[in-house]
Amino acid sequence: DQDQPKKPSWIRVKAPTSQGYKDTRDLLRENKLVTVCEEAGCPNVGECWSQGHATMMIMGDICTRGCSFCNIATGKPNALDAFEPGRVAHAVQKLGLNHVVITSVDRDDLEDGGAEHFAQTIRAIRHRAPSTTIEILTPDFLKCGTEAVEKVVEARPDVFNHNLETVPGLYPTVRPGARYFHSLRLLQRVKELDPGMFTKSGIMVGLGEDAQSVRQVMDDMRAADVDFLTIGQYLQPTPKHHRVDRFVTPEEFGAYEKAAYGKGFLMVSATPLTRSSYHAGDDFARLRVA
Ligand code: SF4
Ligand code: SF4
Repeated sequence: DQDQPKKPSWIRVKAPTSQGYKDTRDLLRENKLVTVCEEAGCPNVGECWSQGHATMMIMGDICTRGCSFCNIATGKPNALDAFEPGRVAHAVQKLGLNHVVITSVDRDDLEDGGAEHFAQTIRAIRHRAPSTTIEILTPDFLKCGTEAVEKVVEARPDVFNHNLETVPGLYPTVRPGARYFHSLRLLQRVKELDPGMFTKSGIMVGLGEDAQSVRQVMDDMRAADVDFLTIGQYLQPTPKHHRVDRFVTPEEFGAYEKAAYGKGFLMVSATPLTRSSYHAGDDFARLRVA
């Protein structure tokens, strides 16, 4: 694409070669698990998998939405697999994870948006791997009643993450099926239901937003009592996806991080290669020790 800005030197991705990477890959394959690491072509896969960190994606690999930044296939999803929660729990136990991140495609075809399946997966992991902390990264449950989020919160994940993805002004082009204030309200509702649960959200930058809108999103998140924030550079998965408007510099990321801590977030990751689940476990462990 001619009008894409050139990738700067700070976006460096190491090829995955380590034995740890291969072990994680084999275990995931054996258990027929889908990961967002692979589906999204995440640049950190070599680093994360070599340490056994993977973000598992439940409820299939076909999404009912089509966000313009996302590489996951859109279409009619398959029926839910009742054995999936058990397989995920088995893999978490085998990988010996201290912290796991579970996400899913959007399931607007299901009445509860997949809330019960999320809850079952959380319970299955708790049962098999009681010392593993569980972070979930959920869809927005836009077409469901509030019971959906209540069901997920009742299963008591340690961290409830839902990404706002971008500034409100870019929703029509970046996240057309979603509503900014609905997503914000969802995060606020989680905190109301269980004030002891950590909430987390994130955005991508480099999509065409300006710095002031990013700071406004931080204020909106804090007003909804969001605890953790991630900000990373958007990378275009294929030429068909939303273009990269610009590469945000490491210095600008540093300024976002500083501003976010100033606004009261407990934990902030803002670097070019930050992803929602990047180093999630390490950060969480640090917070629990502190
Ligand atoms: Fe997977 Fe998240 Fe690591 Fe990317 S940052 S490889 S999505 S665990
Ligand atoms: Fe991708 Fe999530 Fe959007 Fe589906 S809802 S297209 S999985 S970002």
